[in-house]
Order: sequence, then structure tokens, then C-alpha cells
Amino acid sequence: MTAQLIDGNALSKQLRAEVAVRAAKLTERGITPGLAVILVGENPASQVYVRNKVKACQDAGLHSVLEKYPATLTEAELLARVEALNNDPSIHGILVQLPLPKHIDDHKVIESISPLKDVDGFHVASAGALMVGEPGFKACTPYGCMKMLESIGYDLRGKHAVVIGRSNIVGKPMALMLLQSSATVTVCHSATPDLAYHTRQADVVVAAVGKRNVLTADMVKPGAVVIDVGMNRDDEGKLCGDVDFAGVKEVASWITPVPGGVGPMTITMLLVNTIEAAERL
Ligand code: NAP
Repeated sequence: MTAQLIDGNALSKQLRAEVAVRAAKLTERGITPGLAVILVGENPASQVYVRNKVKACQDAGLHSVLEKYPATLTEAELLARVEALNNDPSIHGILVQLPLPKHIDDHKVIESISPLKDVDGFHVASAGALMVGEPGFKACTPYGCMKMLESIGYDLRGKHAVVIGRSNIVGKPMALMLLQSSATVTVCHSATPDLAYHTRQADVVVAAVGKRNVLTADMVKPGAVVIDVGMNRDDEGKLCGDVDFAGVKEVASWITPVPGGVGPMTITMLLVNTIEAAERL
């Protein structure tokens, strides 16, 4: 079997076009949806991410402000900027790019963002809302994975989903979203003794680890759906995921590529969350 691709670029294009229509409608009503992105320091990967986010906003007709600060910015100064943006009516979403320099407490900064503008979905209020099934902003990466499953008409009810990774921004919210869709969910992590034992039983595997070849063909049930969140570099320096794509695509029924899979969907869901934030007004 050769798996079909779940194309994150194509799905993003479609969803971003829908965002653009919603943005135009809001703008007609005098509300231009606005996202503020704060970048502290010179992390090269973060610089690329924020550039892509700002460009995606502009392309979809959202107003976007990029605030860049040197790594010497103090925590108090950053908290003051977030507070100002919380009170700025032209800004509907606030994103503080992580990681922050070591002298700044990530958690404190994320908690200082108004939950009404928490378009990354990282605030405890957003995580709690997901936990209890209340409306709130969903973390963009797992939200994007759910949209990818939806796009192939996959019914999760009664299916066994295995999530590899338990971070607060990917693994845990992913598990909760799958659970919400009535999948039976197993969460694996670095202390899981026999990862393959779990993944071989899975109808859906989501790999969110950050290590190449964590999931190989012998670990996948024939016909499973495989979502690869990982972003790594191969020996030639090319972007690759956590999944041994060449091998696993011969076993799975559907698979997401890297690049062109979950990556673009993460930015797309940020736009969706920002438009929702503006529409709630
Ligand atoms: P993270 O915070 O480092 O979490 C990695 C998780 O993997 C941890 O829960 C860890 O377990 C688990 N793990 C490590 N080694 C393992 C192993 N051998 N077997 C099973 N589990 C193992 O990373 P993250 O922020 O969730 O991101 C994960 C990956 O997704 C990274 O490559 C990141 O770059 C990528 N990512 C991509 C996007 C996108 O838009 N495409 C967005 C976000 C993240 P412990 O908890 O026990 O340490």
C-alpha cells in the first residue's frame, strides 16, 4: 500500500482563503483583525517563524504588528508591552514567540496575555477550557492536525489514537482534542518502555517528539493514519519529521509530509484563531 498524502499546503490555502473572506467582512464593519507578534532576541529559527506568521497575516488581509526586542529586554519591560497590547483595541491576538531568553519566565509572560487574545492557545485558561470542553482558543499545532484529519473525512469515534510526545503545546492538547472526538487515546513519552507495542495497535499515530525516525514502518499498523509534527534536519541539513516517511508511507493509508504537512497548518490555525478573536467582539 502507498499512503495518500494529507497536503498541508493545499488545505492551508483553502482555509486561509476562508479567513480572508471573514477578514474582509470584518474590515467592512470597521474592524480590521489584528495580530501582534513579539520576538525577543536573535534566535534564527524564531525569526523565520515570526516572519512567516506576519506574512501569512498580511496575505489574508489581517493587520499585523511585529515587535522585535533585543535579548537584553527585561521581564518587566516585556510584561508591560503585553499589558499595553492587552488594552489595545486594534489588536485581537497576541503571540509571544518562544523560547524567550533565559532570564525571562515563559510561563509568567504567557499568563500575562489576556485569555481573550491568547491566539496561540497556551494560556492556562485556554488549556483549561480544552480540558473541560468549553470554548476557548485551541493550541494551533494540534488544532491543525485535527483539521487535517477532518479534511480526509476521518471519523475518530471509537478509533485508537497514539500520541507520541506530551508537551504542553503539542502532545497534551493533541491527546485532549482526539479524546474530545471520541477516540481512545494513548499518550507515549520518553519513559514509555515499548513505544512500538503501542503504535502497532494505533489507527492514528501523531508523532510530536523532535527526533528523526522515531516512527518506522515496522511500528505502524497497515492502513493507519500518520501525522508527523516533528521538525528536524537530516544529514544533508534538509527539513524532515519524526517519521521515516519513505518506509511508513508503504504501510499507512494516509500520511502528512514534512515539509508541507503540519507546519503550514500551524500558521493557518493561528490566523483562524485571530479571526475568531476579532469576530467575538
Ligand atoms: P518537546 O517539548 O521537546 O516534547 C517532546 C516530547 O517527546 C516529550 O514529551 C518527550 O517525552 C517525548 N519524547 C522524547 N523522546 C522520546 C522517545 N524516544 N520516545 C517517545 N517520546 C519521546 O517538543 P514539542 O514542542 O512538543 O515539539 C515536538 C516536535 O514538533 C519538535 O520537532 C518541534 O520542532 C515540532 N513542532 C512542530 C510544529 C509545527 O508547526 N510543525 C509546531 C510545534 C512543534 P518527555 O516528556 O518524557 O520528555
